[in-house]
Amino acid sequence: MNGSCLCGAVRYEVSAPLVYAGYCHCTQCRKFSGSALSAFGGVNRPAFSIIEGADLLGSYDKTVATRMRFCTRCGSSMFTEKLLNNMIHLRLGTLDTDPSVWLQFHVHVASTPPWSSICDGLPCVDGDPTDQQANDYRDQARALNAAGRHV
Ligand SMILES: [Zn+2]
Ligand SMILES: [Zn+2]
Repeated sequence: MNGSCLCGAVRYEVSAPLVYAGYCHCTQCRKFSGSALSAFGGVNRPAFSIIEGADLLGSYDKTVATRMRFCTRCGSSMFTEKLLNNMIHLRLGTLDTDPSVWLQFHVHVASTPPWSSICDGLPCVDGDPTDQQANDYRDQARALNAAGRHV
């Protein structure tokens, strides 16, 4: 998979499939994305590399666990570094190729603003999913893919 920002100056490459993917409705993702929700996918950090424009990447440490990264030229929110578990959360809207898996769940759904709604039938969690839930959602997504619901 490959991705880039709006102006094209920052480009990244991912060499392994997404470990999970979903929509986050938390208030911080709403601010960072400027939209009702954020479509994100987790990759193991060693599989992720910036191939162009690393010097243009800005940083904002939201918490000790989460560093937001964005293009300082065009402002695109691109990915989040999860500092405590060595994961990268890609903003899927920055992908230039299809993700390796389909979106599997909605998280932080209690923070969904009144002007937005969820109507795709995917599992909804308030907060972060447990490891067990994340595994279950991944299995469900695989089953749906196998059944041809997703290509
Ligand atoms: Zn840019
Ligand atoms: Zn969020």
